[in-house]
Formats: sequence, structure tokens, C-alpha cells
Amino acid sequence: MNQKVDVAIVGAGTAGLAALREVRQRTDDFVIVNKPPYGTTCARVGCMPSKTLIAAANAFHARVKLDTFGIRGADNLSVDIPAVLARVRMLRDDFVAGVLKSTEDLGERSIAGHARLDGPNRLIVDDRVIEARQIVLAPGSSPIVPKPWQALSDRIYTTDTLFEAKDLPRRIGVIGLGAIGAEMAQALARLGIEIHAFDGADQMAGISDHKVADIVRKSLGEEFAIHLGVEVDLASATDGIEIRWGDNSVEVDRVLVAVGRRNNVQDLGLESLGVPLDDRGMPTVDPQTMRIGDTSVLLAGDANGIRPILHEGADDGHIAGLNATRNVPVRLVRRTAMSITFCTPEIAAIGKKAADLDLDDCLTGEVDFSSQGRARTMQENCGLLRIYLCNSG
Ligand SMILES: Cc1cc2nc3c(=O)[nH]c(=O)nc-3n(C[C@H](O)[C@H](O)[C@H](O)COP(=O)(O)OP(=O)(O)OC[C@H]3O[C@@H](n4cnc5c(N)ncnc54)[C@H](O)[C@@H]3O)c2cc1C
Repeated sequence: MNQKVDVAIVGAGTAGLAALREVRQRTDDFVIVNKPPYGTTCARVGCMPSKTLIAAANAFHARVKLDTFGIRGADNLSVDIPAVLARVRMLRDDFVAGVLKSTEDLGERSIAGHARLDGPNRLIVDDRVIEARQIVLAPGSSPIVPKPWQALSDRIYTTDTLFEAKDLPRRIGVIGLGAIGAEMAQALARLGIEIHAFDGADQMAGISDHKVADIVRKSLGEEFAIHLGVEVDLASATDGIEIRWGDNSVEVDRVLVAVGRRNNVQDLGLESLGVPLDDRGMPTVDPQTMRIGDTSVLLAGDANGIRPILHEGADDGHIAGLNATRNVPVRLVRRTAMSITFCTPEIAAIGKKAADLDLDDCLTGEVDFSSQGRARTMQENCGLLRIYLCNSG
């Protein structure tokens, strides 16, 4: 079957749906192709279920402060993990249902299947050929499980599978303490699970300011075991997994692998565009137009690897959708970079990070929250704000 459209969008995730919103305002001549499942990474297995789990964990953890407030009886509280996970899935299903509404009126313009480029104006979707004047690619990303560990997959969680669990075991290892690993490790620890967490880097959650990193490590380290700057290996154990690092080892029941996400470009046909690809198979994308070189193909969301985070993916999608309906692309100024890790204390970075600056050339200001009055009233007097003022722009 052959089909000709003005715009084809690949991926009905956050970026693809943002592109769809722009395209729909300008033409009816489009299709959106999505490899199931539908519902977006954010709603299905990402931001929303993770935040639901964190909310439950924080609610239970609040009991440890009650006695200091003069509220007694907290020792009698217990957590029903299957009920916590059932609520995560119940809300998740609701969020996904909300997302599904955005494509349900599209009829034949919504196509379920795996799309592959065959040149800059053609897509192959199963036995269908779609020719499009412009193509928005927004295929997202997937969790990485290193090859040697895949043999243990029945004892490994990723964030694609964690929220499907009906119950959780007593001991969990968390490998990778980027934003996702740090959030999940603390949430699981706050639900009463013994957590052993590891990262090859010396700091967690991508923090490059050493003073902030020290506070985060100390604070989270009071809740679970953190090992930074270590390379780990996994081996099968009688009932679980043995995590080995240096001369040390610990046995856990399951491991959450959170070592990063791979952009879904492996089977996308990018090589058919005739543009240079780097050693990861990635083309150069202009972040102000989302265009790949001067082709008629735009690459948005996690898949372009520029800023793999929700609000940036949505912005990517809007820019890509806008430009997919134009002959001459508009160049849009991007937001100041902003990211949050939803652990406690929360970690936010706005603008350039310490690692990207020459701090010797900057004025640095800081506020320590440990004696801040209002924070003390809430027993939340932990944290540090650091601001850099630099000439370099
Ligand atoms: C656990 C977790 C927590 C997170 N928490 C936060 C948070 O708190 N805040 C935040 O800002 N970000 C968060 N993120 C990141 C955020 O979820 C992602 O940045 C965002 O969802 C990416 O959207 P996307 O549109 O690029 O990809 P997706 O939503 O993954 O959409 C891609 C779609 O393309 C489809 N697809 C793939 N290949 C093809 C193909 N060849 N043909 C057709 N369709 C294809 C996929 O099936 C999928 O439906 C989190 C992520 C995770 C995993």
C-alpha cells in the first residue's frame, strides 16, 4: 500500500504528540505512526509512575519525624507494598488513558507499527510505504541493560518493568545513580526495602558542584548504602543476584538497572539520509530547528540525545511540528536549561552546571539551609543553594 502525505510523524510520545499539535493546526494531511505500546514513556513507565511511587514513599517516611513534632504512635504504621504498587498502576492507567485521547479521533491517520526511513521522504511501515514532504522522528529512548547482565533478566528490573511488580523483595540493588536511579533508590528505601546503590561516577544525579554533591551524598547516605566511583559486576546467587565491586560483594534479591537510556535510532534507517553519522549512529541536529542537516527530516525528544527530559522533549516536538509544515524553518531560542531530581532534598540545576564553567572566573554565592528558620520548623533544614555569576555568558 502506498500513501502520500504532507507530514509524517514517527512516535506518539511527548515529543511526537507535541509535534502533532502543531501540525494539526496547519494541515489535515498528515499521519502519525507509533510502535505500540501507546501512552508515552512519561505517563506509562517514566515521570508519572515514578512520582506516584515517590509520593507514597515520602508519605510513609514522614513518620520518622512525627515523634520530634510531638506526635506519637508512628511506630505502629506499616506499609502495604502491593497496595502501593496497585495505586501506582491505577493512577498510571488513568494518566495513559488521558494521553490516548489525543489520538483517538485520528482514524486512519494514526498508524500502529514500526517505521523505518527509506531516504529523506519515505517511510516503510510493515507492508506500507508512506511518502511525506517532511518527516518528524520522535522515537524516544529505552533503558540500557548491559549485555553480560541480560542473562539475569528474570531478577533484574528496569523502569520499564519495576512498576509492573505486584510486590517487592526485601533487598534491592540499584545500579546507576543518575536522576532516575537516585529517585528510585531513595523511594524504595523509604518503603522499607534494604537498598545497596552504586555508580561509577564520584557524584550522584549528575551534580558537578562538589559542595552540593557532598550534601546530597551525606543526606541520602543516611537512608541507604551508597557506593560511588565503583565498577560493579553482577553474578547469579542462589535466590537473587550477587553484586561485586573490588574485593567486596553483597547479595540482593533483585537489581534495578538504571545505567542510562539508549536513543531508539538503531533500526530507524538514519543511514538512508546520506548525512554523516557519528560513532553512535547519530546525525547532527540543529536544536533551534530540530532539522537533521538540510534534509526534510526532523529529530525530536529523547531520541536526539540533546536534553532527554520531558519539557525539552515537548519543546523539541513543538519546534519540529512547526517546521515540518514550513518550507523555510524558523529558528527558535531554547529555554534556559533546567532539571530536577525528585529526591529529598530535591536537586535542581538551572543554567550552566559547575562542570561547564571556570569557577575561578566566577563570583560564587551560597546559602546553607541547615539553620534556616522556616526550614527548621518543618524539619527540612538540609540543603545548599549555590549560584555562579560568570562573565563568559
Ligand atoms: C523512570 C523515569 C522517570 C522520569 N522522570 C522524569 C521527570 O520527572 N521529569 C522529566 O522532565 N522527565 C522525566 N523522565 C524523562 C521523560 O519521561 C522523557 O524525556 C520523555 O518521556 C521522552 O519523550 P519522547 O517523546 O522523546 O519519547 P517517548 O515518550 O518514549 O515516545 C516515543 C514513542 O515512539 C515509539 N517508537 C519508537 N521507535 C519507533 C519506530 N521506529 N516507529 C514508530 N514508533 C516508534 C515508541 O514506541 C514510543 O511510543 C523520566 C523518564 C523515566 C524513564
